[in-house]
Amino acid sequence: MITASPHLRLSSPVPDWRALWRDAITDAGELLHAVGLGELADRLPPGDAGFALRVPRGFVARMRRNDRNDPLLLQVLPQLAELEEVPGFVIDAVGDMGSRAAQGVLHKYQGRALLVASGSCAINCRYCFRRHFPYGDEMAAAGQWRQALEHLRQDDSISELILSGGDPLALATGKLEELSRGLAELPHVTRLRIHSRLPVVLPERIDTALLAWLAELPLQKVMVLHANHANEIDAGVDAACAALREAGVTLLNQSVLLRGINDDAGTLAELSERLFAAGVLPYYLHQLDRVRGTAHFEVDDSGALALMDTLRARLPGYLVPKLVREVAGDASKRPL
Ligand SMILES: *Cc1c(COP(=O)(O)O)cnc(C)c1O
Ligand code: SF4
Repeated sequence: MITASPHLRLSSPVPDWRALWRDAITDAGELLHAVGLGELADRLPPGDAGFALRVPRGFVARMRRNDRNDPLLLQVLPQLAELEEVPGFVIDAVGDMGSRAAQGVLHKYQGRALLVASGSCAINCRYCFRRHFPYGDEMAAAGQWRQALEHLRQDDSISELILSGGDPLALATGKLEELSRGLAELPHVTRLRIHSRLPVVLPERIDTALLAWLAELPLQKVMVLHANHANEIDAGVDAACAALREAGVTLLNQSVLLRGINDDAGTLAELSERLFAAGVLPYYLHQLDRVRGTAHFEVDDSGALALMDTLRARLPGYLVPKLVREVAGDASKRPL
């Protein structure tokens, strides 16, 4: 006889995150129609400007209708501006190719190693370096984590493992469990950090199995979310964040400073306040990586610094993110 646990009986049916992932909008014309902007369909770049459109329907539902400047729409809609060649905007803007330590391992900074755990994302953000990164065989998960774990084993200066990507929560929970079994043999690794946009763009990913895995992990747990605008955070995201905190996860957020999306102090202040209401602290505000096809999103440094001054005058210190840029060869993110 099967006895349902009280938890199972109480919870309402949640759609499976994999089904929602597959159901994402991948056609720019369909996206425009969904937000009432069908008339813009003839101004799209051919072939999505070489980087496929992908956006979960739940994220589309948070976009304003009939607004071509909607800050969520602009993060995912292919634009003609992406086709412009702008000097200085290149393929490997952050020098990732030079810092590969083992399959899928980037070890640039003291004490922490980053695993490119998955090349997939539920959403394709137009400003992302990933539009050119040749992930191919670079995924640390591909070989049962063997090479990656071996690198960690050999360097006991590494106390924090960062799962990044792509989106590491694109992996099946079973794959993450496999990794944590390997980590259990490495006593010098005491913290696990996960960089994921999924709690924001597809909060259904934070399901019972993932939460159980996190709650039982004998490590300190940090999750760095990625939201750029307060409108990205709705009740579903609130619930996912609450459940993650319940599972013992410290929640931080990183954003990218994006022209036309969040480059004014009011918008950034509102984002910080909204994050904190969800139990998330702002961590980094990144200056855009100068990736080919993204120049139209760039905010110049003097503009960015002026924004930060206004933000500091408006918010408690703990709600002001650190404005940083990633510079190849540096020992950390570089503060501006
Ligand atoms: C950004 C990054 C980290 C994390 O840096 P923190 O300042 O600790 O957030 C670690 N490794 C690599 C390769 C990175 O790019
Ligand atoms: S979720 Fe992150 S890694 Fe994936 S496309 Fe967006 S910015 Fe890039």
